[in-house]
Amino acid sequence: MSLSEIKSRIAAAEVAAGRAPGSVELIAVSKVQPNERVEAVLQEGQRVFGENRVQEAAGKWPAFREQFSGVDLHLIGPLQTNKARQAMELVDAIHSIDRPKLAQAIARLAQELGHCPRLFIQVNTGEEEQKAGILPAEADAFVAECRGLDLPVEGLMCIPPVEEEASLHFALLAKIAARNGLTGLSMGMSGDFEKAIAFGATHVRVGSAIFGERATSA
Ligand SMILES: *Cc1c(COP(=O)(O)O)cnc(C)c1O
Repeated sequence: MSLSEIKSRIAAAEVAAGRAPGSVELIAVSKVQPNERVEAVLQEGQRVFGENRVQEAAGKWPAFREQFSGVDLHLIGPLQTNKARQAMELVDAIHSIDRPKLAQAIARLAQELGHCPRLFIQVNTGEEEQKAGILPAEADAFVAECRGLDLPVEGLMCIPPVEEEASLHFALLAKIAARNGLTGLSMGMSGDFEKAIAFGATHVRVGSAIFGERATSA
C-alpha cells in the first residue's frame, strides 16, 4: 500500500470518528526496511519515522537527516538504561518509558544535555509477562513520578496482545490518559490504526502497510 493511501485512510478515519482533520500523526515505522524504501518515502514528503532499536536508528538516520530536513524521529522499541544517552542525542521522541529507573536516568541526562525528547509512557495493557510497559494499576503513580522529575510526558503508548480485541486495550489506554490529564495516545499499527483512531489515537505507528513486509521480524 502506498503512503498516500495510508494517509487517506487516516483522514477518513478522522472524519468517521468526528476528529479534527490532521489530528492524527502518522509515524512511518522504518525498522529493518532497506534504505531505498525509506528514502522513497522521504522523497514522497514523509518526515515522521519510528525505529525500535537505538543501534539501528544510529546507523541510518544521521545520514538521512543530512539529506532531508525536518525529520522527526521516534524511538518506539524498548530502551535499555545504558543506551538512554545515545537515544536522547538521536531521537525527538521516545515511546517506551516503562520503569522508574529509566525515567530517573533520562531526567539526569536531560539536566546534563539541556534537552529532552518528548516522552510517552508505555503501558502493558494486556499485562503480558514478556511485554514491556508499566502495569495499568501502577500507571497513575508512574505518571506522577515522571512529572515530579520534570519529564516532558506527552502521552501514553500501548501494544495490544496479538490474540485479543485491540479496542479493549485502546479504550483502557485512553481512559488512563484522560484521568491523568494526558492528551497524547500512541496506539494503532498496520492492522488496526483505524480502530485506534476511533478510540482517540493521536499517533499511529504504521510499518508494513507502508513499506511492505519486513524481511525479518523485529
Ligand atoms: C514494528 C512496530 C510497529 C509497526 O508494526 P506494523 O504492523 O508493521 O505496522 C508499531 N509499533 C511498534 C512498537 C513496533 O515495534
